[in-house]
Amino acid sequence: MVHDSLRERFPSLSMSTVYATIESFLERGLIRQVSGRSGRLRVDGTPDDHDHAVCRNCGRVFDIDPGAIERPAKPLELPDGLRVTSLHIEYEVICRKCGGN
Ligand SMILES: [Zn+2]
Repeated sequence: MVHDSLRERFPSLSMSTVYATIESFLERGLIRQVSGRSGRLRVDGTPDDHDHAVCRNCGRVFDIDPGAIERPAKPLELPDGLRVTSLHIEYEVICRKCGGN
């Protein structure tokens, strides 16, 4: 999608440049990866604390305002001495279009 939208202005832009750029944005925390189930790389341009719901049928990703629902408390530490810096929740859902309510 990123590649398609830039190709007109930058005809020589390669797919690998797009991936490399996205990777470096991910490393710097400018964007954040959304896992989903499709196997495609999905990224989110707003890395601040909000959650996602991913439709298990169509793969559409919804932003969920964490203030809107109660979230589990963030542990300070995980096994193996891993210090927790943030918590992101991904809900698996069926969206309205796909028959949920
Ligand atoms: Zn759906």
